[in-house]
Amino acid sequence: MERRPIVMANWKMNKQPNEAIAYIQTAAKAVASYPDVEPILAGQDVLLQSMVDAAEDTTIEIGAENVYWKEEGAYTGETSPKVVANLGVQYVIIGHSERRNYFRETDEMVNLKALAALRNGLKPIIALDETVQTESNNAHMHWIVNQVIEALKGVSKDQMQSVVLAYEPTQAIGSGMAMGPEQAQKDLYMIRETVSDMFDAKVAEQLRILYGGSVKPENAYAIMRQRDIDGVLVGNSALDPDNFIELVKLAHQAKKTK
Ligand code: PEP
Repeated sequence: MERRPIVMANWKMNKQPNEAIAYIQTAAKAVASYPDVEPILAGQDVLLQSMVDAAEDTTIEIGAENVYWKEEGAYTGETSPKVVANLGVQYVIIGHSERRNYFRETDEMVNLKALAALRNGLKPIIALDETVQTESNNAHMHWIVNQVIEALKGVSKDQMQSVVLAYEPTQAIGSGMAMGPEQAQKDLYMIRETVSDMFDAKVAEQLRILYGGSVKPENAYAIMRQRDIDGVLVGNSALDPDNFIELVKLAHQAKKTK
C-alpha cells in the first residue's frame, strides 16, 4: 500500500502576516516539483485566511494549530472548527504536546477535538506525546497505546481515511535531540499495530503516521526512510522556507527507497 508522505511545518506562535505570505511564495514553486509528497503549513488562526489565499493555485495545503470541539456558542476566545473549515483550511493539529502541557489538554479533550474536526470536514493530525521514555519498556508502550485508543474513540473506519497521527516524544520537541530512527520506527510500528487492533489491518496500512521532534534536513532522510514513518511534523527547522523545501525533497527521495 502506497502512503503519500507528508512534510508539515508547525509555525506555532511565529510569523508576521507578511512573513507568512512571503514564505508561501518562496516555497510554492519548489515543492510543486515533488507531487508525491504532501506539503502542509500550519499557522496561527489569525494568519489562516491569508495563508489560504496565498496558497491558492499551489500544491501547499494549510493547517490550523488547534480548534475547539464545538461549532459555535458562548466560548469566548475559542476557534470553531466549522469556521476554520469554511476558510478553506484542510488540516488541523490536535493535541500537540504544547497544548497538552501548557494548556492542560487531556486525552478526552483531544478526542472531542478530533471528532469535531472530522464532523466539520477538517483532517485532524492527532499528536501523541511521550513523556515516559526513560521508564520501563512496558510503561512506555502502555503510554503510547493508551493515547492512541483514547484519541480515536468513536472515530469510524471511514473517518480514519482522513486521520493522520503524529508521534512526538516530548523530550525531542525543540531540544535539538531527535529520537533515533530505529527507535522511532519501533514506536510507530506499535502505533500502527494498535490501530490495526482497534479497526482492521487495512485501516492501519492506509493510515499515515508522522514523526516529530527536532527534525531538520540533516536527520530527516534517515527518519523518513523507515517503513512506518510517513513523513515529519517540524517546528524550529521549518521556520525557514529553504529547510521546508529541502525536507520535501528528502521525503521524495526517502519514498523511493520504500
Ligand atoms: C513540534 O512542535 O511539532 C516540533 C516537532 O518542534 P521541533 O521540530 O522544533 O522539535
